[in-house]
Amino acid sequence: MESEGEGVSLPLIHEHLMMPWNDLRKGHCCGHFLAISDGYYCKICDFFVHKKCVDESTEYIEHPLHSIHTLKLLQSKLEFRCDVCDVRDVMGIVNLCYRCEICDFQVDLYCAKYPP
Ligand SMILES: [Zn+2]
Ligand SMILES: [Zn+2]
Ligand SMILES: [Zn+2]
Ligand SMILES: [Zn+2]
Repeated sequence: MESEGEGVSLPLIHEHLMMPWNDLRKGHCCGHFLAISDGYYCKICDFFVHKKCVDESTEYIEHPLHSIHTLKLLQSKLEFRCDVCDVRDVMGIVNLCYRCEICDFQVDLYCAKYPP
């Protein structure tokens, strides 16, 4: 059943191969609904991320709102709050974030890529 080679490998984002997917749902990358919801999906984990959020992601980024330190891509904790858009995610939907451990500053992947 598994057809190797069709999936997309996003080692920074997820451990399994992801399938290109189009679904109108909240992404684990940011907890936002996006009107254009092209993304990648792992059916093993029911894990979905937006293409817009994860394409060309790097392990470290510099963010204009936190330019003193670089932010590192990490798994977010269960309850996530984005320090940029102030969205609270108590459902544990957001699974990924960029974070500065020194300052306890964290942003979801959407805000990391598209600063306000
Ligand atoms: Zn997203
Ligand atoms: Zn998976
Ligand atoms: Zn945000
Ligand atoms: Zn910092």
